[in-house]
This record gives sequence, structure tokens and C-alpha cells, in this order.
Amino acid sequence: MLLTITTTRQPAGDLGYLLHKHPEKFQSFELSFGKARVYYPEVGNDRCTACLLLDVDAVGMVRGKNADQNFLLAQYVNDRPYVASSFMSVAIAQIFGSALQGRCKERPELVTTPMPIEARIDVLSVRGGENVLRGMFEPLGYEVEAVHHPLDERFPEWGESHYFSVTVRKTTTLSELLTHLYVLIPVFDSRKHYFVGEDETEKLLAKGEGWLARHPQKEEIVRRYLRFQPSLYRMALSRLVVEEELVEEDDQTPEKEQAEEKLESPLSLNEQRLMAVMASLRSCGAKRVLDLGCGEGKLIRELLKDRQFEDIVGMDVSVRSLENAMRRLRPERLPERQASRVKLIHGSLMYRDKRLEGFDAASIVEVIEHLDPPRLSAFERVVFEFAKPRTVVLTTPNKEYNVTWETLPAGKFRHADHRFEWTRREFQDWANGIGERFGYSVRFLPVGPENPELGSPTQMGIFQLDGEATR
Ligand code: SAH
Repeated sequence: MLLTITTTRQPAGDLGYLLHKHPEKFQSFELSFGKARVYYPEVGNDRCTACLLLDVDAVGMVRGKNADQNFLLAQYVNDRPYVASSFMSVAIAQIFGSALQGRCKERPELVTTPMPIEARIDVLSVRGGENVLRGMFEPLGYEVEAVHHPLDERFPEWGESHYFSVTVRKTTTLSELLTHLYVLIPVFDSRKHYFVGEDETEKLLAKGEGWLARHPQKEEIVRRYLRFQPSLYRMALSRLVVEEELVEEDDQTPEKEQAEEKLESPLSLNEQRLMAVMASLRSCGAKRVLDLGCGEGKLIRELLKDRQFEDIVGMDVSVRSLENAMRRLRPERLPERQASRVKLIHGSLMYRDKRLEGFDAASIVEVIEHLDPPRLSAFERVVFEFAKPRTVVLTTPNKEYNVTWETLPAGKFRHADHRFEWTRREFQDWANGIGERFGYSVRFLPVGPENPELGSPTQMGIFQLDGEATR
């Protein structure tokens, strides 16, 4: 099976940087199910084409297994080696992993640059025919060209097979194209997936973020992707509650973080914020707490020191932050009973998530300003309607205060990744609206030194579920 990717954005050779594969080399990779090869049949300034050729060892995969079962011919003679399937997705993730995740060290600007791209898949097995094929790709803005292959050229009367050579075209980023292929190729695969496992739902939701919830075929995509796993299917669908645009992975670079810390450091605002949040969590009597958008785990470290908090779960969308948090927390140095109080999970606040239900309190510290405003309503439902902790402690910058920082140019946000910063009025209106809609009462507290006109640098809202008195 063959995946061919072509771009005509000049200089087209940039494709080599994006794929992290040198255009002049022919490279081979051993995968657990066979061999993959990457090569460029065409490298020019106007057009560049890369191929990912997958040699699935269908026989090798079954050899030694099922030894005492009947000989099953179909295990040996099948279309596995020729039809793009979940193996292709695994190969994309393993061989074009950086490109899939949208990382490019040498030319980072390319990652976000939309370019005319064409991907050809030889071949896809599509039961239901061309309409099914178009129904999957066209809503995502792809132009689709499909060549239907006959069962056997020598016997036209046998009719068509269900195999298609498929070309999709779109001006988009390479990362988006690969993400769509990663999710959609297995959707056409009629066999049990090579990679369906426990964390498949997470993978699907992570890769589907920003587009799957709005796809008219989302149910079909989820059903087929998680085929043979009805429980996973239902779980995934129930989490795709949100129709709005969904947030993209919000990976923060350490440099950006440092810029914000530097700006705020004369006040040691960070510490004051942590202390204020800790105080609120303590006083509401919470035992089971969530830290949503936990970043590198600064708050979690504080929570761990206090035995009141028996169960601490940190969640973040950024795997890199979670890895750093793990390094900082070093749970291995703790006695097992202590270490077992804390868990870090990967997830997005844009999706309903069963793992977030049943907690006494949640902290959401300096997170909302990283979400795109049209996506805030998704976040609101995920936290206040579905996870529904008794108490929510939420902080965000107070924009009015920014003018006191001489080093911050007027009109600029404190952090390059902030999508907005709110005045006290704006924050309070938003928070009170949530209170009304979801049945919480809200109190507001300043954090950091207060200026009589401008308020404090950080604003904090404490949401208390109505009818649930604070202990
Ligand atoms: N609460 C931490 C980190 C704040 S930075 C602290 O106070 O130090 C904002 C964090 O929100 C980042 O770690 C970012 O990865 C995370 N984030 C952004 N969008 C998110 C989303 N949709 N779901 C979960 N976390 C998200």
C-alpha cells in the first residue's frame, strides 16, 4: 500500500523539512508488522512528492499464532498487504510523527503554513462505494478524485471491486492533512484494527479535536474507528457533545512561559496565586480535587503537601507539560501511599470526560485565556454541566492591571498564547452568566497587590454549586 503526498507550494522541497525525511535519501524502517519505505520520486522547486510505501508482512504476523487452530487460508491469502488500513495510520504516526503533530525544528513557520497538498492512497477498500468516500472527505473541504478498480481487468463482466485509488486535494497544513488521514483511513478498514486498544478513544478524540465534532458523519467515523468496541464507541460519542469549534492543542513553549513569569515576577504573583487557590480549596473542605490545565504541576505539588487532599488529578492537553510535571513531581521518590494520591491524565477541556466526574473541587488556574473565545461555551459545559464539581476555583488575568507594567507594550497580552484578557467587568459578567446557567453562585476575590482603580493583577472566581453548602 502506498501513500503519496505532493505539494506545489514553492519551494516545494520544503516538504522534506516538514516530513523530517531527506528528499535525496531512500529510507527503510522496520515496523512490528512489516517494512516501511520513504522516498521522493519527484523533487523540484514547483512540485515535490514523497511516498510512504508499506510492506505489510501478512504471513509473518500470523506465523506461530493460532498454532492449534485450523488452518485458515484467509489469514495467509488476503488483501492486507495492498489495502490501506489501520497499519497505514500506525506508519504515519511512527514515521511522520513530527509532521503529524505539527512540529518542525528547522523551519517552524512551515508547520502553520497552508499549502496546496495532494494525497493519493493506493488503494482504499470502500464498502458503500464512492458516496461513502466523498461523505468522509468532502465535508472537511477536500476535493476528491476516485478511480474505481474492476475485480479483474480480464473479466469485465465480474464488475467492480470495492477497491479505489483515491486522491484528495486541499490547501491546508501538512499536519492537518495527516491528521485527517490518520483518523479516516482506518474508518474504511473493514477488519479489526491493528491498534484498537484502551487508549484508542483518547487518540481519536485528540486527533479529532477541532473537526470531528462538526463532521456530519461523526457517528459513522467514531463507530467504524472504534469498531468491535461498542463501549468505547458510546463513550467517545457521548464526549463529542460539543458542536462548536474545538480547541487546538495548546502546546506552550518554555520561552513563552518564562516571558510571562518574568513580567509578573517582581510581585511573585505566581506564588500569591497558588496560595490563594490553595486557601480556597482548603476552605471548601474538598478531598478529591481536579487541577484542570495543570501545566507543569505547580499547584499539584502544593496539593500533595496537604493531607486533606486525598485524590488529586491533574489534566492537561499538552503531553509535553504533563511530562515536565511528572519530572517535577517525581512520584517515584514518594512512598507508594503518597504517590497513589496523584494522577496525571491527558485530555482536553473541550470534551466531556467521564474521568472528571465525581470530584469535590476543581481548580482552573490561568487556563481560560488560552482558549479561543468561540470555544469557551464548550469548556463551560464540560466543566459546569458534566464534570460538575461542587466548587470551582478559577483564575485569569485582569487586563485593566496591564498598564502598570512598563515593560508590557500597550494593548499587548501578558503571554503570546493568550487569546484574550478580560477586565473585571468582563470576567464577572461571564462568571455570573455561568452561575445562572449551571446553578452555581460565584464570589470574586483579587489576587496580588490591589490598585484602587485598576484592581489586582489576577482575578479569581469561586463557584459554589447551589444547594451544596461549603463545609
Ligand atoms: N495551571 C497551570 C498552567 C497554566 S498555563 C499554572 O497555573 O501553572 C495554561 C495551561 O492550560 C497549559 O498547560 C495548557 O496546555 C493548558 N490548556 C490549554 N488548553 C487546554 C485544553 N483545551 N484542555 C486542557 N488544558 C488546556
